[in-house]
Amino acid sequence: AETVDVEAIREEYPILEREFDGEDLVYLDNAATTQTPEPVVSAMSDYYREQNANVHRGIHHLSQEASVAYEDAHDRLAEFVGASGGREEMVFTKNTTESENLVAYAWGMRELGPGDEVVLTEMEHHASLVTWQQIAKRTGADCRYIRVDDDGRLDMDHAEELIGEDTEMVSAVHVSNTLGTINPVSELADLAHANDSYIFVDGAQAVPNQPVDVEAIDADFYAFSGHKMAGPTGIGCLYGKSHLLEEMEPYLYGGGMIRKVTFEDSTWDEVPWKFEPGTPPIAEAVGIHAAADYLDGIGLERIREHENELVTYAYDRLTEHDDVEIYGPEPGPDRGGLVSFNIDGVHAHDLASIMNDHAVAIRAGDHCTQPLHDELGVAASARASFYLYNTREEVDALLEGIDDARELFA
Ligand code: PMP
Repeated sequence: AETVDVEAIREEYPILEREFDGEDLVYLDNAATTQTPEPVVSAMSDYYREQNANVHRGIHHLSQEASVAYEDAHDRLAEFVGASGGREEMVFTKNTTESENLVAYAWGMRELGPGDEVVLTEMEHHASLVTWQQIAKRTGADCRYIRVDDDGRLDMDHAEELIGEDTEMVSAVHVSNTLGTINPVSELADLAHANDSYIFVDGAQAVPNQPVDVEAIDADFYAFSGHKMAGPTGIGCLYGKSHLLEEMEPYLYGGGMIRKVTFEDSTWDEVPWKFEPGTPPIAEAVGIHAAADYLDGIGLERIREHENELVTYAYDRLTEHDDVEIYGPEPGPDRGGLVSFNIDGVHAHDLASIMNDHAVAIRAGDHCTQPLHDELGVAASARASFYLYNTREEVDALLEGIDDARELFA
């Protein structure tokens, strides 16, 4: 497949020209946050220069324009992930974590009780793991975890065993931010639905890097973040099937989400506004809209192909050495564009620090998947994660950094 024109793309990211102590920045921490291209930055600065006002349809021109821009962004993001219902299926939040909390509180606190089960995977990010775990504790429900096999894939036999009569919700990460595994979320959705339960998909690492269609997956809820898809921080998305969002009570209360208020009681505005109280992230909505246009303009298929090439190259080079342990599946159709690993005798944090001496930005730690790292038998790993602007030369810089670390710690 055709891939992306990296050189042209890089020109839209001035930050990539930064140097530290004479070394060119090599940014390989895209699973944590991606860089923001000019079209997104300028959409946001144009908004502040020309349209800035509060939304909720004030009478004046600026408020009208800001309201339209804010509302339209919902339709655009719905479309971006294949939701045909537009804004009625797209709630803006602060990030994936808040989307997760919204459903866990608004849906979970009402629907879960003793004897009920939430089925998660062992590779959940803390955003879903901790949230469902704590809501389960409050409601008396139990959490069960689908096993990850030695190749870093979900044990689907175990999934079939776990998802049953007592299951009320399945919460699964679409692409693991630690293992890189692309999970069969549509199969999990079928299992959930065959057992009269629902599925929440954490798409934080999927939406930025591959085409996603929530309707093809048949997800009931699907969450992602602006800052991981070439968009701004401060905004996240929650897709939900409209009948579910309709039935759910609000999770946060305040102005802008009501229909009628008396001293005794209140009624709610329609979806999505009933879930978006207070002044929302308006400039960020403009920014994430621009990010969706930007990514579609390049093509998610091509971005996926480019990342696949980089991760395959990194994987092949890393496995030339037998002191390297890589987590997750081999590159291929079910591996996304990131690689977590350890080098014998070098702590992941030391490795990241040596990399930083060369201006190579990688992650070290548990990547918000502590229980998974416990299962892997390590406290931490190093992670390099790629995006559309990364090059093979940057992967080489990563490998040189690893060689340096080997020499230092030998
Ligand atoms: N889920 C996954 C798979 C992630 O990678 C992340 C970000 N590391 C999150 C959830 C949380 O995203 P945010 O910090 O934007 O809420």
